[in-house]
Amino acid sequence: MTVKMDGFGNLTGIFNPAGSSAKPVGTGSHLDTVINGGAYDGATGLIAGIEAVRILKESGIVPERPVEVIAFAEEEGGVFGKGCLGSEYMAGSTSLLRLEQYRDSSGRTPGEAAAAVRYDKPVYGEDFGWAKNRYHAFFEMHAEQGIILFEKGKAFAIVDGVVGIMRTRIAFTGQANHAGTTEMSRRQDAVAALSEFICTAYSYGLVNNGKIVVTNGKIGVLPNQHNVIPGEAWSVMEMRSDSEEEIRKAMDVLRKEAGRIAEKYGNTVSIGEHAYVPPISFDRDLIGAADRLAAGRDDMMHLFSWAGHDAKIISKTNPAMMIFIPSKDGYSHCPEEYSDSSQIAKAVDFLVLNMLEADKCI
Ligand SMILES: [Zn+2]
Repeated sequence: MTVKMDGFGNLTGIFNPAGSSAKPVGTGSHLDTVINGGAYDGATGLIAGIEAVRILKESGIVPERPVEVIAFAEEEGGVFGKGCLGSEYMAGSTSLLRLEQYRDSSGRTPGEAAAAVRYDKPVYGEDFGWAKNRYHAFFEMHAEQGIILFEKGKAFAIVDGVVGIMRTRIAFTGQANHAGTTEMSRRQDAVAALSEFICTAYSYGLVNNGKIVVTNGKIGVLPNQHNVIPGEAWSVMEMRSDSEEEIRKAMDVLRKEAGRIAEKYGNTVSIGEHAYVPPISFDRDLIGAADRLAAGRDDMMHLFSWAGHDAKIISKTNPAMMIFIPSKDGYSHCPEEYSDSSQIAKAVDFLVLNMLEADKCI
């Protein structure tokens, strides 16, 4: 393969034995990991792409279209605190102005960090959005990062889409006061209100298990002192679902609950601006072709992705699809993550079949 790096740091290997100028078939995944992560997340999908090219080459198959294998940079957000920046740069799905607001631990912008990388590559910004409408088809193989495939003993899954994510800031405001001299019946404790809200949100998620997940993973309290009744407490609540309707319904219910709870504890509640990314479906034609290729197999199934991926970004302007492989015991983002190599091999064979099927369609 010939290799090129883009202005952000995404790396592409190009296999084009026919010297074709047709739209390429792309594959790959991210090369970065979380801190203290394992060896399989991301890297497996990239190695799968390289292996796919090796299979083509060793079988003497000359694809009609170029094949591009991509190692996406900064998918996990470990450097700039925001995921999928590499694919967003490639797909042009953000703006350079927005990208420049991020800083790494030494205070550098993505542009400054990219300039410090001394590989031969375009100047940061010049090739922004280069992968917009570029691919004839794009396939990302990735570990499921859940337990379903492992439990069901399947080799791989065709991924139908990626869940939508809503993040909302919920702040309860009560009255800070002396923790000793204020009788219990006279308190307006904001942490008491927030705690009840968090438990209510958790129960909602539990009752709707399988349809939605609800997480209050980031909370704060003011003044955060042992001898002061908390005057303010907030949480960033995150909800994910494959159905936009489920997210809206949950938000309606929990908004009402927050009002009821605020009243119970003599608090007011404000529900702040939310960030919302709707669920997406992968390309119907690619999924249809994958189904035909997998017809009669009992070692595969369909899944929805409950984690974000580069393919979701790429899919905005390119036909895209994902293939999941099992994660042993459902572990991911930890050193225990593991996928069996015989199952990876089956998934790579299936990836090659899909790439060749896409290659045929002119
Ligand atoms: Zn990943």
